[in-house]
Amino acid sequence: MEEQRNTYIVRYGEVALKGDNKPYFERILMERMRKLLKKYPGVEIRRENGLVLIRTPRELPAEAVTKELSKVFGVDSLSPAVEVDSELEAIGAAAVKYMSELMARREIKTFKVEARRSDKSFPVQSPEIGRIIGAKILKACKTLKVDVHQPDCRLFVQVRQGNSFIYEEKLSGRGGLPLGTNGRGLVLLSGGIDSPVAAYMMARRGMVVEAVHFHSYPYTSERAWEKVKELAGILAEYCGRIRITSINLLPIQEQIAQHCPEELTTILVRRFMMKLGQRVAEDRGCLMLITGENLGQVASQTAEALTVTDQAVDLPVMRPLIAMDKTDIIELAKDIGTFETSIQPFEDCCTVFLPRHPSTKPRLDRVLEAESRLEGEALIEQAFEARETELVLPRE
Ligand code: ATP
Ligand code: MG
Repeated sequence: MEEQRNTYIVRYGEVALKGDNKPYFERILMERMRKLLKKYPGVEIRRENGLVLIRTPRELPAEAVTKELSKVFGVDSLSPAVEVDSELEAIGAAAVKYMSELMARREIKTFKVEARRSDKSFPVQSPEIGRIIGAKILKACKTLKVDVHQPDCRLFVQVRQGNSFIYEEKLSGRGGLPLGTNGRGLVLLSGGIDSPVAAYMMARRGMVVEAVHFHSYPYTSERAWEKVKELAGILAEYCGRIRITSINLLPIQEQIAQHCPEELTTILVRRFMMKLGQRVAEDRGCLMLITGENLGQVASQTAEALTVTDQAVDLPVMRPLIAMDKTDIIELAKDIGTFETSIQPFEDCCTVFLPRHPSTKPRLDRVLEAESRLEGEALIEQAFEARETELVLPRE
């Protein structure tokens, strides 16, 4: 059996906790894995007796499979495994072969067999299975010794009804919940470090994300827009393709600059971004807004400013980075792969018309008074109508 196929055991931790919803979460997780592995012919993904198994043609390298699965939310861990009939002789022979192959690849002096019998009708109990297989390996591989405390190799033998598995490593996955199990959200995506990380964090909880990006063309360049698309392309590897709505904020920024107090510019622009975000979200069926805001990071992210920003919209605003330290955000950005792109220096619309002394404790009544000098709704509608959209596919 093990000759024609490679097998991978996929564990999905948190998904398993979902009670009655379990089949639903599993189905979505399996669909997602199928989609990512579709490019490789002959891959089969099935659920068998409570395990999710992926079987691939022998010639498909494990790295190709593990690379794809490392981007799937909901996968807790996975193990490349050898599959064999649940019969002690066959398991023993396969374990010996497996161990010999491992020893050819790296130095192993000590090992331990960890056997588990999930088929209780199997005639031999788990500790005994471990001893029998261990003895067979010792006999075949003369240089090996058993070490139950710190072995160079821990060989897992999982005996199940029908088929059994032999594997060594557990590669950890992304965790989280399968994409598509938690509604749709709209991320306000700048070209900075934070907002791509915020989008990733929500997607990791199963939310499908779309994006809105604001620019101030011609003050912001085409290259800044390319950068945002590049970031979306990296995110799309985890989140699936991402639709970006692009909106020119310049007419609104000019009105604010002309009619409103300079120190309120930043907060006013932030509120317009939120309102436009809400307009797009309603149009696209998104349930929430997502931003990369972080408490205290800049003038517009003080507790007071965030409160006044929030009050611009009715939709819930998700700020998954709110209490994180910048160093941790950067670490995550590096792990996802967005950091290097984010730090490329291109102008952002926020830096156009930057006030010299932005108010760090804006008051809602003053902000509302300033806004009343503008034709807010008309400005929003015009900006929205002039929007452009682009569908960004996962980067290859
Ligand atoms: P980031 O690194 O995400 O740009 P930041 O620390 O630079 O964040 P701000 O520029 O104040 O902070 O922006 C706060 C949040 O507002 C961003 O995380 C993002 O969600 C949103 N935002 C800012 N600029 C834009 C933009 N040009 N288009 C879309 N959203 C934006
Ligand atoms: Mg920014």
